[in-house]
Amino acid sequence: MIRVITERDTSFAGLFVVGVKSTGIFCRPGCPARTPRPKQMEFFATAGEALKAGYRACRRCRPKDIVEKPPALVEQLETLVRNNPASRITSEMLRKMGIDPSTARRQFQRYYGISFSGYQRATRLGTAHRAMSNGESAGNTSFDTGYESTSGFSAAVRKLFGEPPTRIAEQKCLPARLYETPLGAMIGIADDLGVHLLEFVDRRRLASEIKHIRGSLNCVIVPGKNLPLDQLALELEEYFAGNLPEFTVPIHIAGTTFECAVWNELRRIPYGTTVSYKDIAHRLNRVGAVRAVGRANGANKLALLVPCHRVVRADGSLCGYGGGLWRKKWLIRHEQQHRKSH
Ligand SMILES: [Zn+2]
Repeated sequence: MIRVITERDTSFAGLFVVGVKSTGIFCRPGCPARTPRPKQMEFFATAGEALKAGYRACRRCRPKDIVEKPPALVEQLETLVRNNPASRITSEMLRKMGIDPSTARRQFQRYYGISFSGYQRATRLGTAHRAMSNGESAGNTSFDTGYESTSGFSAAVRKLFGEPPTRIAEQKCLPARLYETPLGAMIGIADDLGVHLLEFVDRRRLASEIKHIRGSLNCVIVPGKNLPLDQLALELEEYFAGNLPEFTVPIHIAGTTFECAVWNELRRIPYGTTVSYKDIAHRLNRVGAVRAVGRANGANKLALLVPCHRVVRADGSLCGYGGGLWRKKWLIRHEQQHRKSH
């Protein structure tokens, strides 16, 4: 159990929780918070036992959720998402149902630790992906996956991947694969020569990024595998275990000339270190282009592989990250902790 906690092994989540004596907080395995010293650990089979022993639930990994039923409002929102796979649940829709949107969103965020809109994006993607992975036609899968109608399922898939499921076989296809990481699920898209996209599935601009890839390569995205996606799986595992200072999986860098220059510069930032936007602008001999560097940084479609998380403000403070600031913090700390061993 000490090994599982120390290595942030998530495969044991739900089997036990760990209390940290010095802080009085308990976590589930894989928690992104600072790893406690073995002497400080106390183990419990369930969150309930830890609560009884006087520990409070960690706010990062939310171990109480293992035993706690979601609030009625959260369950209602989940049902809404399930029954409306193709459409975004708007504040207007919630109000019409007599639900106060801000209360609903706050409760949802508190229970799941991600925003309601992030949850919707992740669900849309995950459900479509899983259904298609089974290789069944849309008509067969839609009912099993919780979609109420075939047309709803088709609309959801079309919105994300571009074509009605039945026509995918006739088109040039690019495989996509989901990866479980300690920071949540990621999606990777690659052709045989390299990776086009790697993103956290709840990222706001993911749908438009996928659409852009589809358009520029004239292809559809389907769940599947190939050599780069398999290699990426191994490298992600090693990276999150702290054993991989540099990704070697081939990638496609596609953007404007300036964006490509910025991204190539980002790839020169050593593991476990950070530089500022200003530094990058300076290195490109574009001292006045700090903002443009920031924009190019945000337009990166290859999370981790092009390490945009290693760029910070000139004063060293953190600022925007497409995958969320908490992930950026986690990544920087993770790399700093493992830097010495490389
Ligand atoms: Zn925790």
